[in-house]
Amino acid sequence: MRYEDAVRFHGHKGPFMTLGYRAGLTAILKLTRNPFDLTCTVKIPLRKPFSCVLDGIQCSCGCTLGKLNLKVEDSDDFVILFEQVSTKRRLVMRVRRRIIDMILSGESGDELADMIYNAPIDELFELYEE
Ligand SMILES: [Zn+2]
Repeated sequence: MRYEDAVRFHGHKGPFMTLGYRAGLTAILKLTRNPFDLTCTVKIPLRKPFSCVLDGIQCSCGCTLGKLNLKVEDSDDFVILFEQVSTKRRLVMRVRRRIIDMILSGESGDELADMIYNAPIDELFELYEE
C-alpha cells in the first residue's frame, strides 16, 4: 500500500515504521512482488518503538502476521531477513546503529520519518544478498 496508507494503518508517521516500510519496498524490488512467495524474519528488541518497524514491513511487502510469513524474534540486534520461498534467495538488512541512535535521540519523529523515507537505502541499512 501507499506510504500515506501505511501511516494511517500504523497511527502515526513513526521513524521505525518508515524504516520497515523502506525495508519491505527493497525486498519486493530485489526478490519478488508476490507476497505469497516471500517470508520475513525480524530480529529486534521486542518492544516499542522498535516494534513499529513491523507495521511498515507488513504495509509495503505484504509479509503479514495473518499469512504467517512474518516472524519476530526478540533480539539485541536489529536485522530484517527476507527470503523468496521459491528460489531461497535471501536479502539481509541490518539497520545501521547510527540510524537507531538518531531515532532514539530525535526530537521530531515526523522530520526523522521524512529523512528516512528519502534517504539512500544503504545509508539506513547494511545489505547482504545471499
Ligand atoms: Zn510507531
